[in-house]
Amino acid sequence: MDCITFIKDIDDYLDGRMEDEELNDFLNHLETCKSCAEELEINFIVREGVRILDRKNVSYDLSSAFGKNLRENSDHIRFRKIYMRLAYCMTSIAFWALLASVFVYFREMSF
Ligand SMILES: [Zn+2]
Repeated sequence: MDCITFIKDIDDYLDGRMEDEELNDFLNHLETCKSCAEELEINFIVREGVRILDRKNVSYDLSSAFGKNLRENSDHIRFRKIYMRLAYCMTSIAFWALLASVFVYFREMSF
């Protein structure tokens, strides 16, 4: 993902409207690009700030809220990757089990 795409996708990120693959690309770019990370933080703080002013909760810590938001999204992607790896392993095991049973079946039939 490039910086232009990242900036364009900030609203989708903050609205939680990203597919997992898109979110993964977004977070990967975020880790490597300091200026986009700052841009995202500014957008997050402005948006949350407006929301908080509506609620009149002045003790709210925006930086912590931003960190929490990032951790939640990173955890989601990490869990998704583990799940995909697990699904791949289960499919592999099922394939080899099927192949082994076919092999045993034909060996039994030949006697
Ligand atoms: Zn960037």
